[in-house]
This record gives sequence, structure tokens and C-alpha cells, in this order.
Amino acid sequence: MQKDPDNWHSTIKLVMADITTLEVDAVVNAANNSLLGGGGVDGAIHSAAGPELLEECRGLCGCPTGEARITRGYGLPARFVIHTVGPIWSGGDNGEDDLLRNCYRNCFALAELHDIKTIAFPAISAGVYGFPMERACRIALREMMSYLEKKNVDVIAVCFSKRALWCYQVALQDF
Ligand code: ADP
Repeated sequence: MQKDPDNWHSTIKLVMADITTLEVDAVVNAANNSLLGGGGVDGAIHSAAGPELLEECRGLCGCPTGEARITRGYGLPARFVIHTVGPIWSGGDNGEDDLLRNCYRNCFALAELHDIKTIAFPAISAGVYGFPMERACRIALREMMSYLEKKNVDVIAVCFSKRALWCYQVALQDF
């Protein structure tokens, strides 16, 4: 696809950080189907955003795996939280790759609707949900790159461990 010259400044940054500290338009939450909070990045986002986030999430009545929902960011520096539900790893032959791809695509679709220009993602499913980190990072990067071919946004791939950073760096070499 021909690149639009206006989009030349789009970037993907690999950043080691706690996603709740980032001053971006939107942070992505690796949530569960209830959207009512959990452990890992979900717990961190809810505790930094405060109880109003949980209240707004209650009104969403959950979210199927692979889909995404948007709320305000409340106590976070980010204006929005995009909640997506990654697949639970169960060996790799149960549609996990496609579901993970859908998470990124649906997050980007919401980002476009809300004119979000900077968006930070955790490594969805690669924590408690057990998706192999290298495979998750490869899928994430491919989806990020394909969105950036069309849109002028800055994407941050947040690495919460050295291993995540390493996996993203390895995945980058494939492009
Ligand atoms: P899932 O249930 O989708 O696997 P987790 O929250 O368990 O979600 O993990 C997803 C990824 O988010 C993991 O790589 C984990 O290390 C990372 N993570 C956990 N807490 C944070 C945080 N505060 N900021 C950024 N990433 C985080």
C-alpha cells in the first residue's frame, strides 16, 4: 500500500514502564470478560484510575474475548482506557492467534472513532492468560505496523519486564 506522506511520523516505541504512568490519549487494559477488574495490568489500571472507572465498567455489562470497550481514564494521566479481553492460552489450536489479533484491531477501531493519536498497549494475554510472550509480541507488532501504515498515530508497546522488551526486539527483526 502507498504510504500517505502525512503519516511518515507515526512511530512504534518500545518502552519499559508501568502503563498507568503514561501520558497518552489512551491506555489499553488487558481485562477479563466481566470488565470488573482483576489482577495484573487490570488491577493496576483500576487502582490508579479509582472507583469511578469500575462504576463506568459496570454499565458496559462485560466484553466478549477479542472485542474492546472504551471508558474514560479518570485518575489516570490517560484520557481514555480501552479495555480488551485477550484469549486464555490453551495450546494454540483454539483460535488464540486470531482472537489476539482481533483485540488489537478492535482497540485500533475504537482509537480511530475517538480520534486517539497516542495509544499504549500492554502485552495482552502474555501474563496470567499464558500466551507465549514471543508469539504474542509478534502478533502485536504486526497489527501495530499494519495500523500505522494507514493512520498517523504513535503507538507505545509497553514492556513490563526485560523479557517482554527482548521479545519485542526479536519480533522487530522479522520486519
Ligand atoms: P492477561 O490476563 O491478558 O495475561 P496480565 O495483566 O496478566 O494480562 O498481563 C499482561 C501483560 O501486562 C504482561 O506482560 C504483564 O507483565 C504486563 N503488566 C502487568 N502489569 C503491568 C503494568 N502496570 N504496566 C504495564 N504492563 C503490565
